[in-house]
Amino acid sequence: MSGEVQFPKGDLMKGKRGMIMGVANKNSIAWYIAQQMHAQGASLAFTYANEALARRVRPLAESLDAELILECDVLSDASMETAFKTVEDKWGELDFLVHAIAFTDKTALEGSFVENTTRKIFRDTMDVSAFSFVDSANRAAKLMKDGGSMITLTYLGSERTVPNYNVMGVAKAALEASTRYIARDLGPKNIRVNAISAGPIKTLAAAGISSGRHMFSFSRKASPLRDDTDPKGVAGAALYLLSDLGASCTGETHHVDGGFHIVGMPDEAALKE
Ligand code: NAD
Repeated sequence: MSGEVQFPKGDLMKGKRGMIMGVANKNSIAWYIAQQMHAQGASLAFTYANEALARRVRPLAESLDAELILECDVLSDASMETAFKTVEDKWGELDFLVHAIAFTDKTALEGSFVENTTRKIFRDTMDVSAFSFVDSANRAAKLMKDGGSMITLTYLGSERTVPNYNVMGVAKAALEASTRYIARDLGPKNIRVNAISAGPIKTLAAAGISSGRHMFSFSRKASPLRDDTDPKGVAGAALYLLSDLGASCTGETHHVDGGFHIVGMPDEAALKE
C-alpha cells in the first residue's frame, strides 16, 4: 500500500502554496497528501523534524519539485521561528498548511492509561501533538493574507477509548477542540481549519502502538466498508478541505475510516471473517 501514487492530475491547487509538516518517509500520511496536492498543481514547502530524517525526506520532497525543504522541530520556538520566517522570505504568503505531527513515549502506548501517564509524558505529548497545531496555525495565519485552509490529522481514540492509545487519545481530543477554537478565531480572515480523523494506517507513528495488529484487524472487520483505511482516501479528503471544493467547511472533524466511527456494535459474522 505504501509508496508513490499516481494521483489524477488537475489544477484545483494551481497557484496555491502550502507547507507540509510531518513527512517522515513514504508511508507517512503527509506524503500521500503532498502527492495529491502536487498532482493538483500546488507548490510545496516541506518540513522535517530533525537532521536524521532529512536523508529520507529530502529525496521525496525533491521528487515533487519542493521549493523549500526545512528542518522544523515543533518543540523548539527557535526552530519554528526560522522555518516560518524562511517561508515568509521565500513566498511572502501562504495558502494552505498540513499538520501531520504526533509523538509520545512508547511506554505510554501500552497497558494502563492511568498508571503509565506521568506528568512529563502528559505534558510532552500535549506539546508535540496538540499545541504544535495551535502554534503552527498562528504562524501560518499571519502569512495567509488572502484567506487559506489548514488541516490536522486525528484519530477516533479522542472520542472513544481504544486499547493502548491512552494519552495520545487525550492529546487528540485537545487537538480536535483546538481545531474548533482556531477555526472560530481565523474564520473572519477567511481561513478554514479542519481535522481529518483517519482510521489505522501502517506508518512509523502507528508502529509505536502496542497490539497494533489487533487495532488493524478489528477496524477492518468491524467497519462497514470491511477494509483498511486507504491513505489515498485521506489525501482525497485533504484535497477537498484544502481546495476551494471545501468552501464554507470549517471547524469540522471529518472521518476517513471506512465508517468505523458509526458502528455501535459490529456484526457477529463480520468478526468471524
Ligand atoms: P509518521 O510517523 O509518518 O508521521 C508523524 C510525524 O510526526 C513524523 O514525520 C515525525 O517526524 C513528526 N514529528 C514527531 N515529533 C516531531 C517534532 N518534535 N517536530 C516535528 N515533527 C515531529 O506517522 P503518520 O501516521 O503519518 O502520522 C501523521 C499524523 O496522522 C499524526 O498526527 C498521527 O497521529 C495521525 N494519524 C495517524 C493514523 C495512523 O493510523 N497512522 C491514524 C489517524 C491519525
